[in-house]
Amino acid sequence: MLKHTHMLLTHQYRIQPSIAQQAQMNWWCELLRRHHNYALGQRLDWLRRTRCLADRCSLISEPMGEIPGASPNYYLQAGELKQTKVLFPDYRNIYHDVQQQNLKRLEKAWERWVKPDNSGRRGGRPRFKKKGELRSFTFPRVNSEKAGANIRGGLLTLSKIGSMPIILHRPLLDGFTLKTCTIVKQADGWYASISLEDQTVPALIPLDNIKSAVGVDVGLKEFLTTSDGETEPVQQNFRRDQKRLARHQRRSCRMQKGSNNAQKQKNRVARIHQRIKRQRKEFHYKVAHKLVKAYDLIGVEDLNIKGLARTKLAKSILDAAWGEFLTILEAVAVKRGVRVVKVKPHGTTADCSTCGWKVPKTLEIRTHDCPKCLTVLDRDLNAAINILVRAIQAVGLTVSACGGLLSWVTRHADHLVKSVEARSVGGGSFPRRTSSGMSSCEIGSPDYTACG
Ligand SMILES: [Zn+2]
Repeated sequence: MLKHTHMLLTHQYRIQPSIAQQAQMNWWCELLRRHHNYALGQRLDWLRRTRCLADRCSLISEPMGEIPGASPNYYLQAGELKQTKVLFPDYRNIYHDVQQQNLKRLEKAWERWVKPDNSGRRGGRPRFKKKGELRSFTFPRVNSEKAGANIRGGLLTLSKIGSMPIILHRPLLDGFTLKTCTIVKQADGWYASISLEDQTVPALIPLDNIKSAVGVDVGLKEFLTTSDGETEPVQQNFRRDQKRLARHQRRSCRMQKGSNNAQKQKNRVARIHQRIKRQRKEFHYKVAHKLVKAYDLIGVEDLNIKGLARTKLAKSILDAAWGEFLTILEAVAVKRGVRVVKVKPHGTTADCSTCGWKVPKTLEIRTHDCPKCLTVLDRDLNAAINILVRAIQAVGLTVSACGGLLSWVTRHADHLVKSVEARSVGGGSFPRRTSSGMSSCEIGSPDYTACG
């Protein structure tokens, strides 16, 4: 199934639909949700019947209705779309390909549940989606013949919805094919995720199959901190070399221009530069491989808009290194189909990762101490969790609706469940977190277990 799609990158752009377009897109999401649930019910029903037959368990009690011979697969369900449109005329207003994609997504989730993958792992049982849980829909073609989505001159035009401004804060790469356009509804508005295709790399891990995710915050004290609370220190020899470099540079300045000594000194400086660069690259690759091996989705701060959010300080060096690291991380991730999701950095440090309350802090303050919900966390860890939450939301996943991810979340990051929950109900206060994490009854509430 994966061999036909070779995705490289997904770029997400903010779109500005009109009020009427927003209402229409919300209605699409709701209709697609109902249809998803209907199609899932059809599949589960078929499974129940065939299983009973195989067990010869209930030939009497089972209703003797017609037992469909073939499973209600994608083709069968897509074939019934016509009938759906007759019975429910609202569905005529949804672009046909979008409805097919909706069914395809279900098919993929179903396949992953029914058939184990190469390593013997199976996905969770596909869940019925509750109201508001389906927040994205996909146009399978962009800017090509018969495409339902077109991007031209700062405008995104969606079939049956119309044109709206799209903010291309990062250019669409040349040399890649625009593959699909997924419209995602997020807390702060609507976004278009454009996937760019390259034949030479494997497909991204499907969204429904993401089992582990991490948020990564870059800092001065540590090179990075993950939302799991792990840190990667700045290389020691990097700091040493930086000092040596500064010293040699000062010396170089004092020398007479053009002299033999000055030339030698210049060479020395250049070599230190080169060594620093090489070591940093090696270090970046090492860290990138480590992250990509451990996680299916990696949330990071978007460098392109970071300048606005960062405080003064001499962060330019840090930002440059972070940019290099991101490039390497993306390159490494792409080869394994791992998603690197860039999120807006605004407020990641200040916002409380549990309740969303703003807790501004200067650079010296190393601890996040929320006066509202009494959460106490390391400053960078708090930021990393915020980044993770944003990344998960950016791809249109909700923690309670993403199967495998949930078990991971409950295992590793009790605070995350809380923070997502808190945001989705619009904030609220939680009891002080103890070292043992949230109480087990909260994790095991029906809402959450239903998804595993
Ligand atoms: Zn708080």
